[in-house]
Amino acid sequence: MRLGAHISAAGGLFKAFKRADEAGCDSMLVFTKSNRQWKAKPITEEDVTKYKKEAEKYSNIFPVAVHASYLINIASPDDALWEKSYQALKDEFNRAALFGIPFITFHPGSHMKSEPEAGLERIGKGLKRLVEETADSVQGTTLCLETMAGQGTNLGAKFEHLAYLLEAAGHSPSIGVCFDTCHVFASGYDIRSPEAYEATMTEFDNVIGLDHLKCFHFNDSKYDLGEMRDRHQHIGQGFIGKEGFANFVNDPRWKDHPAHLETPKIEKHDDGTETEMDPVNLETLRSLIQ
Ligand SMILES: [Zn+2]
Ligand SMILES: [Zn+2]
Repeated sequence: MRLGAHISAAGGLFKAFKRADEAGCDSMLVFTKSNRQWKAKPITEEDVTKYKKEAEKYSNIFPVAVHASYLINIASPDDALWEKSYQALKDEFNRAALFGIPFITFHPGSHMKSEPEAGLERIGKGLKRLVEETADSVQGTTLCLETMAGQGTNLGAKFEHLAYLLEAAGHSPSIGVCFDTCHVFASGYDIRSPEAYEATMTEFDNVIGLDHLKCFHFNDSKYDLGEMRDRHQHIGQGFIGKEGFANFVNDPRWKDHPAHLETPKIEKHDDGTETEMDPVNLETLRSLIQ
């Protein structure tokens, strides 16, 4: 697999390549704008040139994936917030495409005070419109719906939700799925033993179709199976455990798929020292490859 981590793009997206390389990544996950703000500085030609030059220099780091802003909620029952979210998502999709980045992942949304079905319907409506409105501006970038833990009113915790959304988007090749190990496990799909992993993958295939699975987030879980709590833990130190991740990294179907850590970056020790954890977690993952 193309193992990597979420890497800071502080000071310009092009700067992420060097950081990813230093952390021992084969690929990386980035934000192209501040993830907690609606506004984004427009991308200039110079930004793209700098990015492409660094991508060439660090040709060992691929593929790159974007994580869209956490503010976006195209399941929102509030019309103004829905439209704001839709425009932000469209902007993120176009931004990723401008850099030539192949994947962008986003959280499908939260239904808030409305019913889950109403929320799903609104997400589906947004996706359909997005596919139509970006048909000319976006080529070669796939928007991935992230599997969610089901915390609060989050949608996308059930494979059936994602299957419904792909259908609502008209089975566009521009829409795929990002598999987050912590979220899938928290939502109640076991992946710890080889048998449980196979059963979950078979269910994914039957409900969604494995060909729609484009990328992974690799996070262990602080909470147990089915607890619907979204808290990431270092690889091998949570309830999924090393054996669970061994199932993924040794599955030939994911040989070329990117998998990105979204685990805590720093571990503080009692003696005041700190350990950078991305290289440690990547090392753990690689040690599982047979
Ligand atoms: Zn994730
Ligand atoms: Zn999470």
